[in-house]
Formats: sequence, structure tokens, C-alpha cells
Amino acid sequence: MKKRLDLAEFKEGIRSGNRVVLSQAITLVESTLESDQDLASELVQSLITETGKSIRIGITGVPGVGKSTFIEAFGKLLLDQGKKVAVLAIDPSSQLTKGSILGDKTRMETLSADKRAFIRPSPSGAALGGVSGRTREAMLLCEAAGFDVILVETVGVGQSETAVKNMVDFFLLLMLAGAGDELQGIKKGIMEMADALVITKADGENIEPAKKAKVAYENALHLFPLGEKHWSPKVQLASSTSGSGLREIWQRIENYESQMKGNGFWESNRAAQRLNWLDDQIQFLLGQAFLKDSLVQKMLLDRRAKVQKGELNPSKLAKTLLQLFFQK
Ligand code: GDP
Repeated sequence: MKKRLDLAEFKEGIRSGNRVVLSQAITLVESTLESDQDLASELVQSLITETGKSIRIGITGVPGVGKSTFIEAFGKLLLDQGKKVAVLAIDPSSQLTKGSILGDKTRMETLSADKRAFIRPSPSGAALGGVSGRTREAMLLCEAAGFDVILVETVGVGQSETAVKNMVDFFLLLMLAGAGDELQGIKKGIMEMADALVITKADGENIEPAKKAKVAYENALHLFPLGEKHWSPKVQLASSTSGSGLREIWQRIENYESQMKGNGFWESNRAAQRLNWLDDQIQFLLGQAFLKDSLVQKMLLDRRAKVQKGELNPSKLAKTLLQLFFQK
């Protein structure tokens, strides 16, 4: 078996923008082996002052809305502007969607073939707490490797949006036109998180329905308060196949960046996100350690049935279990 790179080799490879080493480092971050995780944490720490210079963009929308096609076209536009683009995916539901997210690499042929791009599908079957921590570390590694734009893709199913919102600078919601109810199952909360809404597939016969949808969404957005950053999200039309509207989306993101850097929100948001990451990880690691504890496991096995039958107060058992865990 090939010897694993050591810390210095990983660090050197990433700093020189080596995509193979970057990929191996992310595998290390995703590993469930404790020794791998320790090395991964040390690696991220050793590069931490070299991170943070990219624009982090979250992209979400229901399956079929055109996320992959959009990322391929939008990513290509960014490459043409001289940017280096990394694409990461967060997909806590990959058990359900069978890893559809970024799984089909052929949909991003141009991007995956380009040396200035890096595409990383989501690790499958992991709990959200674990996935978001790992995606955040992967993102920092991409930044240390010199990527200017990080696109974080997630599937529109609910909780993963919040996780992505908490790790990006700009949150883009892709929507379909003409799907009957214009507010197709996208929860109000997700619309409220968006910094921009994009109606996809605005080409051919779909242009008119797309324009109508734009008006409907604009009306819905008017109902939301402006928020602390004083940014009013716009609805834009785009076609990933013809390329129309993509340049305008990038312009809007650049405007956002300069406005938020000007009013201080950019940095304060990132600072809050770092603390949120800490809180997240404490909760996640505590939960993991707790459930792995053999005494806890034994008592849980003993008493779960009683809770199930309604004979034992779940709050009381939870407290007893915690006491058991912490008193050791
Ligand atoms: P995802 O599930 O959100 O990643 O969606 P995909 O990118 O796989 O796209 C779903 C379908 O919509 C595919 O058949 C695409 O070819 C099609 N599609 C995506 N973008 C466009 C577009 O801009 N115009 C048209 N006409 N079709 C598109």
C-alpha cells in the first residue's frame, strides 16, 4: 500500500495547488479513523492563516431545477474570467436521493476536465453534523490551495440549507418556472435565507413562464424584511444552456461582496460563522462520544423499551444517562 503523505507533504502539496494532494487531504478530513482525523485537523490548523480569501457561494434548489447544469455553466464563466473554482456538495440525504447530487460527474464534464477547477462530490450516508464540519474543513483546504470561488451545492430538502447558509457568504436559490404553484414546496424560510433567486431554464418556450414566475417571486420577496445587512434579494432569469443571465448573476454577487465588505457585514458574518462552527462541532462530538459510551449504551438498551411503552419519562432517562456519562 502507498504510504500516506505526512503533514509537511500535505501542506506543501496544497499550497502549491496540487489537486491530487488536495483531494487526498479531503479524503483524510472525511475519514472516520481517529488518526486520520487528527492529522486532518492539524493540517487545517497549519494552513488556517492562508484561508478565507475566496468568495463562498451556496447553491440550492429542488432536484431537477438545474443545479449541476448551472454550476457547470457558471463555473465555466468564472474560469473564463481567470478565477479558480472549487465545487463541494453537502448532501445529508444522500441515502434517499442515492447520491444524485454531483454524483453524475458527466454533467460537469467541462469543469471536471479543467485544471483550474476542482469538483468534490458529497461523502454519502453521514449525519449532517459530521458532513457540515467536514465540508467546512474541505472549503478551507480549497482556499489554501488557491481557489478563488467555492460553490457549495446542496439539495433543497430542508435542513441542509441552513447548514450551507451558515458556511457561505452568498446564498443562491434556484427555482423553476411553470411548475404550477410558483412556490413549489420551497419553504418560506429558505426563500428568506436567499441573497438572490434565479429562475432557471429561461430559454425557448420557457421564457414567458419564467418572466411570470419572476414577478410572482418578486412579490413574495417584498413581504420579507430587509434584515441587518440591508440587502434586497432580486429575482433573476438564467439559462445554463444558452448562457443568458449568468454574467448578471456574477455581477450581482460582486456587488454584494463590495457592499458587504463596505458595511462590515462580510467579516462579522464570517466571525459569527466560525463560532457557529465551534458550537456545531462541540454538539456533534459530544453526541458522538455519548452514544459510543458503553455504559450509556447498556443503560439505553435496558430502558428504551420502557420509554417506548410510555412507562418512563424520557427527560428523566436523558438526565440519568448524562449523569452516568459525566460522572465517570
Ligand atoms: P439538478 O438535479 O438540480 O442538478 O438538475 P440538472 O442540472 O441535472 O438538470 C435537470 C434537467 O434540466 C436536465 O435534463 C438538464 O438538461 C435540464 N436543464 C438544466 N438547465 C437547463 C437550462 O438552462 N435550459 C434547459 N432548457 N434545460 C436545462
